[in-house]
Amino acid sequence: MTVSMETLQKYAKLAIQTGVNLQKGQGLLINAPIEAVEFVRIIAKEAYETGAKNVHIEWNDGDLTFEKMKHATMEVLENFPKWRADGLTEMAKDDYAVLTVYGENPDLLKGIEAERISAVNKAGAIALSEYRDYMMNDKIRWSIVGYPTSGWAEKVFPDVSPEAAKDKLWDQIISIARVDQQNPMDAWDKHNETLKQAREFLNKKQYKKLIYKAEGTDLTIELPEHHIWHGGAATSAKGVRFNPNMPTEEVFTMPHKYGVNGTVSSTKPLSYGGNLIDNFTLTFKDGKVVDFSAEQGEEALKHMLDTDEDGARRLGEVALVPHESPISQSGIIFYNTLFDENASCHLALGKAYPTNIKDGSNMDTEEMDKHGVNDSLIHEDFMIGSAELNIDGETKDGKLEPIFRNGTWAIPFE
Ligand code: ZN
Ligand code: ZN
Repeated sequence: MTVSMETLQKYAKLAIQTGVNLQKGQGLLINAPIEAVEFVRIIAKEAYETGAKNVHIEWNDGDLTFEKMKHATMEVLENFPKWRADGLTEMAKDDYAVLTVYGENPDLLKGIEAERISAVNKAGAIALSEYRDYMMNDKIRWSIVGYPTSGWAEKVFPDVSPEAAKDKLWDQIISIARVDQQNPMDAWDKHNETLKQAREFLNKKQYKKLIYKAEGTDLTIELPEHHIWHGGAATSAKGVRFNPNMPTEEVFTMPHKYGVNGTVSSTKPLSYGGNLIDNFTLTFKDGKVVDFSAEQGEEALKHMLDTDEDGARRLGEVALVPHESPISQSGIIFYNTLFDENASCHLALGKAYPTNIKDGSNMDTEEMDKHGVNDSLIHEDFMIGSAELNIDGETKDGKLEPIFRNGTWAIPFE
């Protein structure tokens, strides 16, 4: 790789300090593609130097995943090993920080039947639900950083040599994650401050509804009472700051699971379990998807929507991202949710983050339902932002106020 050692060290330091904010004596779990081994060694070294008591790596490899998905019996695919789920949950219970180095090839599972993919996704979601709860409730600190695997780089830059594609993707990742700035950690502090202003404005307003209008989109999203907007740095249950996604450009909250009506059209492709779903439209009635179509990947979309009883057909997240965000300005489609979701206003089908509503982390299933908090085995972001998107907020007394105009913020910033 041609990215310099110095840059990789800056990136690793940013992930450990600003990302998971690793504390002395804490354990670190890293999920990473085996292709990223050099970078992971640098991260592990940084973690130990910061005082990590242990660094545990869960390796993955695209080619091996493909072979298994192609050949293993359904019985194997439908059974996520208990020892593996137990191990991960044990680390979460022991307050390990979790850092995911992410660079999935969007076409990895091309040609694998949708039934097989959804069986694996479902088994994993069920087996890892306790482990995932630690993260979705910010009980432990976690972060995701991008890494340009060859498969991903070649998908994003198909017209140059594989080596050049990887270099080009490195350049993008380094710049989007602000690693190329004089002091990346200061740059992140400044960025977090802007996101904080936006979320505090929206939290004070407590809009009753958001109304989306753009070509192919006419959608009303009701927000539950006492919803909370988050964005930028989060605070863990132990009161320690961390940055869950690097990059992140969004402020987000939860929709009311029974209060979404109208039609929304995607503006970027969605990579779901190694399959691309593109140019799709969803129609909602009382919160539930009652009609859908897709120019590409309709079968995969159907399987995703049918993952569970009806949670996968309802929304769990509504996120605002200005169209002039650095990722959007790059003009590149990354085929990777971590990057594409931060280029664009988006929604997520499936589970809501309990932290997006007052006392959400203490609600049982019944209370969640009563407050409009969606639960599901999936949480899948899809992109709906564009330079044409207008969003209004409806106040409690029925007044409409502009939140987004022509794809960007229409609220006052200091
Ligand atoms: Zn989001
Ligand atoms: Zn999301």
